[in-house]
Amino acid sequence: MPEAFKLFDAHVHVGRWKTPDFAGHQSDLASVCSVLASCGITGALVMPTDDGDNVGLARGVAASAGKSRLKLMMAAWVDPHDPDATMEFLEGHYPMVSALKLHPSFARLPITDQAYRPFFEFAAQSGLPIVTHCGRWREVAGWERALEMAESFPDVPIVLSHMGGDSPTLVAGASNAIKERKLNNAYLGTESIREPWVVGRAIDTLGADRLIFGSDHNLNHPNSFIAVINALGLSNEEKAQIFGKNAQRLLRYDEGCYSSNDNAAISAILNKLGAE
Ligand SMILES: [Zn+2]
Repeated sequence: MPEAFKLFDAHVHVGRWKTPDFAGHQSDLASVCSVLASCGITGALVMPTDDGDNVGLARGVAASAGKSRLKLMMAAWVDPHDPDATMEFLEGHYPMVSALKLHPSFARLPITDQAYRPFFEFAAQSGLPIVTHCGRWREVAGWERALEMAESFPDVPIVLSHMGGDSPTLVAGASNAIKERKLNNAYLGTESIREPWVVGRAIDTLGADRLIFGSDHNLNHPNSFIAVINALGLSNEEKAQIFGKNAQRLLRYDEGCYSSNDNAAISAILNKLGAE
C-alpha cells in the first residue's frame, strides 16, 4: 500500500470559517499539516471551509508539493449559487482536483436541486467522487437526498459525511437504506461520529469496505476519531480498509492522474497560480 494511505484522513478543512457557529475559527495549511502529522496521518483529502476558497487552497497545496511527507489531495468546494465560478476553477485546475465537496446545509439548497446537476455530470465524466455533508436538517441535508443522487448517478461514488448524519438513528437509517437499495456507490465518512458502537453497527450492516475514515479537522482533532475506529476491535484488514484502502480506491490514486503532490501538471498550475 502507498505510504499516503496507511492512515488517510478523507475530511480535512483548511482556512477560516464564515459561519458564526464556528466563531471565526481558522487554521492555515501549514498548521493543519502539522496537526495531522502529529497524529501519524500519512495523507489527507483537504478542502476549503465555507469560504469556498478553492484557488487559495490549490495554491497552498501546489506550493507544499514535495515539502512534506504528508500526501495531500484536494476536494473542490462546490458553490451551487455561483456554478460558473466553481466550474471555471474545475476546468482550470482539473488535474489537482481529486473530489468535489458539496455542503447543502451551508448552501441552504438540497443536493437534489438542479443547480448541483452539472457537478454530478462533471463527476460522472471525470471519475471524481463526491463528498457531501449529511445532517439533521433532513429536507436539505438528509441522507435520503444523498442516496437519491447516488441512485441517479450510479457511476459516481458518493461519500455521505458524518455517516449520513451525526446521530445513531440517522447512521442506522443510511446504512440500512444503502444495503436494501444495493447502492454500491455509496460510502459513509466517519468524521465526527463519537460512538464506536454506531460505527460498529454500520460495519455489521455494510462491511468495512464502505467506511472512509475522516476527522473533520480543523474543527475536530483527528486523534478523537482515530480512537473511535481503534476501539472497535477490528481485524487489521478491516482497519486498513477504513483508514486508507477504501479512500485509495475511491480517489483512484493508483491511476496516478489526480495525485496532487507529484503530478507533472502541478508545476504548470503552480506557474499559472503564481502569475495570477
Ligand atoms: Zn466538514
